[in-house]
Amino acid sequence: MPDLMEKIVSLAKRRGFVYPACEIYGGFANSYSYGSYGTELKNNIKQLWWQTFVHNREDIVGLDGPILLHPKLWEASGHTKGFNDALVDCKACQKRFRADHLVEEATGKDLEGQLDEMSAALTEIKCPNCGKQDWTEAREFNMMFKTQMNNVSDEETAEVYLRPETAGAIFVEYKNVLDSMRVKIPFGIAQIGKAFRNEIVAGNFIFRLREFEQMEIEYFISPDTEWKPLFEKWLMQQEKFALGLGADKKDLRHYEHPDDKRSHYSQKTVDIEYKFPFGFKELFGLAHRGNFDLTAHSKASGEKLDYFDQEKNERYVPHVLEPTFGLDRSLLVALVAAYHEEEVKGETRVVMKFPKGIAPIQLAILPLSKKEELSSVARDIFDNLKTDLVCEYDETQSIGKRYRRQDEIGTPYCVTVDFDSLEDKAVTVRDRDTMEQERVKIEELEGYLADKY
Ligand code: ATP
Repeated sequence: MPDLMEKIVSLAKRRGFVYPACEIYGGFANSYSYGSYGTELKNNIKQLWWQTFVHNREDIVGLDGPILLHPKLWEASGHTKGFNDALVDCKACQKRFRADHLVEEATGKDLEGQLDEMSAALTEIKCPNCGKQDWTEAREFNMMFKTQMNNVSDEETAEVYLRPETAGAIFVEYKNVLDSMRVKIPFGIAQIGKAFRNEIVAGNFIFRLREFEQMEIEYFISPDTEWKPLFEKWLMQQEKFALGLGADKKDLRHYEHPDDKRSHYSQKTVDIEYKFPFGFKELFGLAHRGNFDLTAHSKASGEKLDYFDQEKNERYVPHVLEPTFGLDRSLLVALVAAYHEEEVKGETRVVMKFPKGIAPIQLAILPLSKKEELSSVARDIFDNLKTDLVCEYDETQSIGKRYRRQDEIGTPYCVTVDFDSLEDKAVTVRDRDTMEQERVKIEELEGYLADKY
């Protein structure tokens, strides 16, 4: 359904959700800016995540670490050497591709990490761009963005990376969290923030970006914990979060990484995939990472990163379960799942049916005309409700056009103030999904809406 994707990309720009960045300079490397409604939607998704996994739980605490971290961290975690993708160039048209993706699309074989096999398979594959068959060898490409610190003379330490995932910042603060917060195993540390990856091919709108946001948790458990039921529970919680974005259960599935594709320290890794208009792709991930990270950082830093378990009276390096969520991909799910077209009186109505809890605007207040007598009533309603709900006041254009606009933004309720309102002290409340209209007394409006939210 590439058509659906085109419609969503176009609506996202037209209605202020997502703009292609730097368009005045011809656009820039698959980067995007979130517009006003996109920013509201993104903030609501972050808020929902933080509420679900931090505020609603006693066993998870928050963190907000830096993007630039000590380069030794990335050596210890294996990123400097191993955070690579395979790339290949078409010598005829100079276009660059992810070698493993090309091979997988053409043959169905997943040869990730096997460069020679990829180069051999490419001898049978034509360039999707120019149709020729003239490839360079497949080669490794490190996906971390490098930059320089200007206050260090030593070349090696001057070179720093923009973090390629948020998790690293969590592991290096494990000891501080342990010392400052009253956490007891099992406990988690949660973080939302930017990550940067020099993706060979970015694309599919905001699905694969070079700069994106992750919402990650490191959940520390004792090494002898019966971890399998806990793993299943996390998967269910991740799935529930996806449903909260508006995803349909039938559009979610699990992909378990086979033994030979999994990192050596991981006992189990599962991707939660969503049926995007361009096919089932990873939305979230869950990995059992053993005690790999804490052990590696302890060894590299010389600091003890263990845990004293008072109940068991023993010391150990905790194991960790890592549920990870992409924020931009979550927002894309919200857009895809919300997009509906309906036939109404011979016309197509486009409506974004966001779950009420994440809709960018919760209430639109629309006086039927700009006349002072109506707008003063409407402004009073706006002023009264704006601290409880995210409201938008709009008195431009015909009421039909304003409804259409609010439908495309996904506003669950519109309040219309008309001339009768001056007499009966009531307004019309229109429901986005059913389009039903109800007359509600102005003095009862606040309670009426409180029941809806
Ligand atoms: P993929 O296989 O799609 O490249 P990955 O397995 O490398 O993803 P992880 O390293 O597990 O992804 O990252 C955790 C989460 O971060 C992913 O589930 C996804 O939601 C998000 N993510 C990863 N890479 C990107 C990207 N380039 N753009 C947007 N979101 C991303």
